[in-house]
Amino acid sequence: MKKHNFYAGPSILPDYTIENTIEALKDFAGMGLSLLEISHRSKQFVAVVDEAVALFKELLQIPEGYSVIFLGGGASLQFCMIPYNLLGKKAAYLNTGEWATKAIKEAKMFGEVNVVGSSEDKNFNYIPRGYEIPKDADYFHITTNNTIYGTEILEDINSPVPLVADMSSDIFSRPIDISKYAIIYGGAQKNLAPAGVTFVIIKNDILGKVERSIPTMLKYSTHISKESMFNTPPVLPIFAALQTLKWLKNMGGVAEMEKINIRKAALLYDEIERNSLFKPTIPAKEDRSRMNVCFVMNEGFEQFEKEFNDFATEHGMIGLKGHRSVGGFRASLYNAMPYESVEALVAVMQKFENLKK
Ligand SMILES: *Cc1c(COP(=O)(O)O)cnc(C)c1O
Repeated sequence: MKKHNFYAGPSILPDYTIENTIEALKDFAGMGLSLLEISHRSKQFVAVVDEAVALFKELLQIPEGYSVIFLGGGASLQFCMIPYNLLGKKAAYLNTGEWATKAIKEAKMFGEVNVVGSSEDKNFNYIPRGYEIPKDADYFHITTNNTIYGTEILEDINSPVPLVADMSSDIFSRPIDISKYAIIYGGAQKNLAPAGVTFVIIKNDILGKVERSIPTMLKYSTHISKESMFNTPPVLPIFAALQTLKWLKNMGGVAEMEKINIRKAALLYDEIERNSLFKPTIPAKEDRSRMNVCFVMNEGFEQFEKEFNDFATEHGMIGLKGHRSVGGFRASLYNAMPYESVEALVAVMQKFENLKK
């Protein structure tokens, strides 16, 4: 039985991505060699990188003046690369969860960090609003989707200083106005590719403003000037990312994806609200993530948590256990998750409710 994959990351990918990657592992681009054993500088692989960059630009409508690069090190390395390259004196950060907290910790090694808003007081179950961004900050850093807690910033906010966004878990889930951002980055293993590659979309004129010297590998300009080929890039995940981008284009792009994502999230949140056994962990509807839907057992039904997890697993629902810092359940509904899988989960929740009535 094909399982319904609700893992938060690494996570579900389109069949198209898996199938084409398997094919390339056997014979890449008709070369008679595996993707795993070819030079990253072969013209066939350079074409993969070029096409992936072109599709990033096309699908997200990235304006002139921006570069797209693929790096190793995960989103976590960006937590230090961003302040290394951008933080002269002071930076502003919004603390909306564990990943934001980690980004803040790294930035503090490079200068003054002003945390303009935080939802830590309520275990990160809301998006702070009404904060003020200091006009003299070098940049303002946000995490648009909080994968662990299930909150999401769904609008492109206006920032008086360059806006930097960790979009690891919601990139390509909706159209974004790139011109409002200076940097958008993320690990690819949530909504794009297998683990191992990090994408960075970067406005070129943001660079070169700090005085410190930066190690070559940690300098954005190194990778921009070498078009992600300064050193050996993560060949396999870049190839897989290209397949997902092609699939996305075939599906109608990010505008179409957003429509489906809205329907999927609404179906599940509605059931969580309706079903007497469950309740959502994020009170405000406008703060709820479309990508990671978090819920717990309702009052009086806490004792059934493990039983529901086992019941769901028996019904082919995989990866629903919530992160240890929230508990309960987390259903990740990334782009590749079909609407039918969410329907199947809702049916299992209803079946469980009927058992307990
Ligand atoms: C998963 C995740 C990260 C960490 O990504 P790595 O590639 O493992 O370093 C950072 N930020 C967010 C929002 C994430 O979901």
